[in-house]
Amino acid sequence: MDLLLSRLPPGFIDRAPFEAAWIARRQDGTYGTRPAQLQLLALLPAEDAWPQLSPVCDLRLSSAPVAFLLTLDHWASRLERYGRIRESAALLPYLIFQTAGDPWTCPDHEAADGRVARVLPDKPVPSIVDWRWTCRCTVLQVSRRQLLARGLTPPD
Ligand SMILES: [Zn+2]
Repeated sequence: MDLLLSRLPPGFIDRAPFEAAWIARRQDGTYGTRPAQLQLLALLPAEDAWPQLSPVCDLRLSSAPVAFLLTLDHWASRLERYGRIRESAALLPYLIFQTAGDPWTCPDHEAADGRVARVLPDKPVPSIVDWRWTCRCTVLQVSRRQLLARGLTPPD
């Protein structure tokens, strides 16, 4: 959440109540439901108060508060995933960047589809592309053999 908030004007979101509700809805399993989403949206500033969120990856039009929530979801699952990626880095030392595979992905990330990076144990997971709002792109973690089987070249 720190990363997302650092991309917004200081104090723009009243963090404590929003964060408490966000964590509570994820823990009680209601997170994806419509009432939970409406509750979270109600804790965010009104749509016309938001600055333009830029750059974005998912080019479909969504309101800024919705884009914020989407980005927060993706970022939270990405952080969980990064922990597991680091744990498996010795056996699966390569990451292949993958877009969501639909026409809504921004051209920059589309161009990076299939790009490979090396992940080292106990090192931060490398970021293959720049950070973007609404990015649904992900990485596939593979062994050297799996990488070569896909016709891809190790970067090292
Ligand atoms: Zn993306």
